[in-house]
Amino acid sequence: MAAKRDYYEVLGVDKSADEEAIKKAYRKLAIKYHPDRNPGDKEAEAKFREATEAYEVLSDEKKRPIYDQYGFAGLDGAGAGGGGGYSHAFHDFSDLFGGAGGGFSDIFDSIFGGGFSGSSSSRRRSGPAAGTSLRYDLHIQFKDAVYGTKANIQFKHNEVCSACNGTGGAAGSSRKTCPTCNGMGQIRQGNGFFSIQQTCPKCGGRGTVIDKPCSSCRGSGLQEKSKTVEITIPAGVDDGKRLVLRGLGDAGENGGPAGDLVVVLHVDSHPLFERDGSDLYCAVPISIAQAALGCEIEITALDGKKLTMRIPDGTSSGKLLRIKGEGVPVQGSTRKGDLYVKIIVRTPTHLSSKQKELLNQYLALENPPKEASLINLSKLD
Ligand SMILES: [Zn+2]
Ligand SMILES: [Zn+2]
Repeated sequence: MAAKRDYYEVLGVDKSADEEAIKKAYRKLAIKYHPDRNPGDKEAEAKFREATEAYEVLSDEKKRPIYDQYGFAGLDGAGAGGGGGYSHAFHDFSDLFGGAGGGFSDIFDSIFGGGFSGSSSSRRRSGPAAGTSLRYDLHIQFKDAVYGTKANIQFKHNEVCSACNGTGGAAGSSRKTCPTCNGMGQIRQGNGFFSIQQTCPKCGGRGTVIDKPCSSCRGSGLQEKSKTVEITIPAGVDDGKRLVLRGLGDAGENGGPAGDLVVVLHVDSHPLFERDGSDLYCAVPISIAQAALGCEIEITALDGKKLTMRIPDGTSSGKLLRIKGEGVPVQGSTRKGDLYVKIIVRTPTHLSSKQKELLNQYLALENPPKEASLINLSKLD
C-alpha cells in the first residue's frame, strides 16, 4: 500500500485553513470525483475516498488537532478506513451543500441524485409533489403551558389557486413541451468534463410549460393566503414542544398532499415559579421564630388557589417541603406532579428594644460554646 498523502495536501489547503475553506475545498473535489459522475473509474473513486477521509478528519474539531499533533498514528484507525469508510461524511452533506451556496444544492442534487442512492439520470418532477411544511414559533406564558390554553395563530401558506384549480393554466390553455429543455426537465451546463445537469429553470423539471398561464397565480398553481386558526395547547406542555397541524402547510403540487404547519412552543419564564418536568418549585421566607416553633402558613399557588402549609418545628433554612399533586399535569395521564416549596429562614433586622431583650434572654439560655464546630458543606440542607 502506498504511503498516505497528507490530508491538507489531499484537499489542497493550508494548515491554517478554517472550517469554511476546508468545506469549500472538499466540495470541489467531491463533485469532481464522485462515483456517480465517474462510473467505473477506479482512480476517481480512490480520489473521492481519499478526499472524503481527509475531510472527515479535518472537519472534525476533535480529530483535527490530534492529526495536527500526531499525524495518522494519532488517529488510531479512526477516520482512516480505506475501505467503505465514507458513510460518516454523508451525514454532513446537507450541511455542506445545503447552505448559502446559491443554488448549489440543486446542482449537487442533480449530480448525486436524491439521497445519494440513485443514479444521476434525469429526475423529472411531473408527478404529485408534497407541499412544504412550515414552522411557526409561538411564545406562551408559563401558566398557560402548565394548565393549557387556546391560541389564535395567523400565518401565510400557499393554497391551491382557486382561479385555475391548481393547474396553473388559464381557461383554454394547454401544456406543451418545454422549449428550454426539450421536455427532459434537466439541462446541461458547462462543457466537457465539468458539465453538470441541472433542473430546468423554465419548467421547474416538469418538461412541459403552459402556453397561457393563469393570471392569478402566474402559472404556479398556488396562491399565498393568510389564515387564522385556533389551536389548543394541552396542559403540561414543555418548552420546545412541537404541535403538528396536519395539512396546514403549503399545498402540494399536481395533487400531492399538503405539508404540515409545525407550531414550536416557547414557554416564557415566571417571576416566582420554576419548573422541572412535571414538578414546580418556589421559595417562601419565614421568620426565625416560625422556623423554630413550627407554624402554618398560607401560600398562593400558580393557579391562584390558596394552599395551607404546615411547617414543622425546627425547620432549617433551605428545607424543601413537598405539596403533593400541586404541580404540572403529566401529559397523557390524570397524574400531576408536585409543588416543592423551599423554606428560607430570614434573620430579623431593625430589632425593637423589646425584641432585643428577648433574644438576649434566649441567648443566655442557649449559651453556645465560643468555639463553633465545622460541618461539611454537603451536609447543608
Ligand atoms: Zn392559478
Ligand atoms: Zn424545461
